[in-house]
Amino acid sequence: MARFIFITGGVVSSLGKGLASAALGALLQARGFSVRLRKLDPYLNVDPGTMSPFEHGEVFVTDDGAETDLDLGHYERFTGVAARKTDSVSSGRIYSNVLEKERRGDYLGKTIQVIPHVTNEIKDFIAIGEDEVDFMLCEIGGTVGDIEGLPFFEAIRQFSQDKPRGQCIFMHLTLLPYIKASGELKTKPTQHSVKELRSIGLAPDILVCRSEGPIPVKEREKLALFCNVRPDSVIAAQDLSTIYDAPLAYHAEGLDQAVLDAFQISPAPKPDLAKWEDVSDRIHHAEGEVKVAIVGKYTQLEDAYKSIAEALTHGGMANRVKVKVEWVDAEVFDGEDAAPHLEGFHAILVPGGFGERGTEGKIKAAQYARENNVPYLGICLGMQMAVIEAARNVAGIAKAGSEEFDHEAGQKRFEPVVYHLKEWVQGNHKVERKVGDDKGGTMRLGAYDAALTDGSLVASVYGSTAIEERHRHRYEVDIKYRDKLEKAGLKFSGMSPDGRLPEIVEWSEHPWFIGVQFHPELKSKPFEPHPLFADFVRAAKESSRLV
Ligand code: GLN
Repeated sequence: MARFIFITGGVVSSLGKGLASAALGALLQARGFSVRLRKLDPYLNVDPGTMSPFEHGEVFVTDDGAETDLDLGHYERFTGVAARKTDSVSSGRIYSNVLEKERRGDYLGKTIQVIPHVTNEIKDFIAIGEDEVDFMLCEIGGTVGDIEGLPFFEAIRQFSQDKPRGQCIFMHLTLLPYIKASGELKTKPTQHSVKELRSIGLAPDILVCRSEGPIPVKEREKLALFCNVRPDSVIAAQDLSTIYDAPLAYHAEGLDQAVLDAFQISPAPKPDLAKWEDVSDRIHHAEGEVKVAIVGKYTQLEDAYKSIAEALTHGGMANRVKVKVEWVDAEVFDGEDAAPHLEGFHAILVPGGFGERGTEGKIKAAQYARENNVPYLGICLGMQMAVIEAARNVAGIAKAGSEEFDHEAGQKRFEPVVYHLKEWVQGNHKVERKVGDDKGGTMRLGAYDAALTDGSLVASVYGSTAIEERHRHRYEVDIKYRDKLEKAGLKFSGMSPDGRLPEIVEWSEHPWFIGVQFHPELKSKPFEPHPLFADFVRAAKESSRLV
């Protein structure tokens, strides 16, 4: 039966709760335990699928096709455990389940209330698959004191009572602000935050305190005394130059030991941190730097392309180079020459995206990369843009475009080489969609197989001709243009196993130009860089020598 660690946050948001949870998961693994991480988000959206990347950062897609919070990306990157649909839930999902049950009459006429109906729904969610792992880490989104968070806090309180003693612990993440004028780290906000938690029946076992520097003994003792935790359970989380130092840094601070002590696991198995030492070494001892342009739309908020930025870092680690990413807003060169904006980069990446805005700029970026032999990686929309560029400028289909943009504009301006897919096969069953379906969850989502052409660049990159990657899109490259495009030199080097859906395209006469309909970035890990990113950065490194 799993032991449960509930992770809450206080004082302010954005303290890196997700990262702390992920790093703790990695440390428990290093001591030989199996883990699963879960995120419980108090917001009312049913899932983050329809939330703007500007507001909420990227949507992380799981193998089983759930659109989840980007923290699940951290969990996967640090533990290597593939997240599932059942690892992410929001108030919106919980309430909609409860209301569905109410409509079905499952509650037999009872009055439906937050306690017990909503809290029971949350507890049932937390317990899914509890027998599969040694530790289940559940992070509660938001900050203690938020109105939306209350049912979740109440549910974890009840949950820990339902379980035998010693099976659940609570870890609370706070901030120790530093007051320059007096040169002091202040503990009062943390004291208040813990007081707030205790008022709803939760007593933290471990305090993780973000601070700019080390926590002096005096402050540590004060926190322990006022917050009712042991002094060695006050863990300092200092700012780090890279997130991949987090497991080693938390270990040095004693986080994993404090967790095992709280569960009274003794003797504690010794940790094997070799994997994280290697990761850290690769980041801190890079030889040289490559410059990569990410030509996208959501460039104001880096979290919108979180997994891509991380996957590039992993690609750099594989090649022992630092990858310097510059975010280039595609709209800037919509109506003008792209060259002045893209010169000097060793590689160009066009990421996924939705909507027409900025797409003409992205098409120009693909053209620039093709004509100048600059390594190009097109992901999802970035692949579709490369196909449209090839169709317009090489295959002579002057009006080539995507049905997505015509659909939005209610016009027919383009010849749709990228079109709306209305049915496809997933595993053994057929999936059907209509253009007018709800926005949420109507895409080709989750893991799909692809068959790669023997001898293609992409097959050599993967070292295999059978792959499985995650998808999140509505539109597809239309297979009927394959002949024309291949004659022009753009090879369809990866297809769905039934041969109907183009998954990968590449220019045969180009050193490194690959477009993929899926999202390889979602599966990259620091200790296992994704082959496409590793080889893309290798190509960038090569082109940096030529520049
Ligand atoms: N907007 C495109 C589609 O729906 C691409 C989606 C994406 O890049 N994730 O097909």
